[in-house]
Amino acid sequence: MSTDALDSGLPGRLAAIRARIASAAIRSGRSPEAVRLIAVSKTFGADAVRAAHAEGQLDFGENRVQEALAKQAETADLPLRWHLIGPLQSNKANKVPGAFARLQSVHSLDLLARLSKAAVSAGVDLPVLIQVDLAHEATKSGLDEAELRHVLASARDLPGVRVEGLMLLPPYAEDPEQVRPWFRRLRDLRDTLLAEGVPPDQLRELSMGMSHDFEVAIEEGATIVRVGSALFGSRA
Ligand SMILES: *Cc1c(COP(=O)(O)O)cnc(C)c1O
Repeated sequence: MSTDALDSGLPGRLAAIRARIASAAIRSGRSPEAVRLIAVSKTFGADAVRAAHAEGQLDFGENRVQEALAKQAETADLPLRWHLIGPLQSNKANKVPGAFARLQSVHSLDLLARLSKAAVSAGVDLPVLIQVDLAHEATKSGLDEAELRHVLASARDLPGVRVEGLMLLPPYAEDPEQVRPWFRRLRDLRDTLLAEGVPPDQLRELSMGMSHDFEVAIEEGATIVRVGSALFGSRA
């Protein structure tokens, strides 16, 4: 595990990211509170999580269940909210309800149905986002637009899980301006679905934007940004 986050720079980096989030929100005509920062702590240790929490950060993102649960155990004394942002195999669905504040990466109806069963038997409610794949990239999971409509409709009959919005992991591009069209497409898709009568509660959140493009994502409507390396340092 890297120890970059233990350098004295973390408070300054976190403050700078918060300031950039606030400016981007204001530029897009929204209040800074309308955008939530998820600190993506994958590959970094519990010490890094503690350092960020000491600066007031409460939301953390992890992309692997095992790693997340280990870190949760090491920081159980802190009031943190953990978000699972990576692809989840259906057979691990029962590990999520109760352990995570939200699962951002639902990519199939099968997974959502299993999460529903697991949430009901754990007696908890699990907020989720649906991961959308606009670019049809073979290496990434996510639903296309037709599948998305089907899952949104089916989700209304599944107890224990609550769809709160959409998540996007667009193709990488060095220049954030080249990513902007993908962010815009997700927002347009959200607006189209609203116009088609999908309940607004299912489309409240747009999780998009990472270290190198979160400001552009916010300008295009992100309500959640997932920032790792810009905060904790580069991953090994
Ligand atoms: C790792 C990861 C991030 C954060 O990436 P950075 O470029 O380090 O900010 C965001 N979202 C997902 C789904 C990730 O896996």
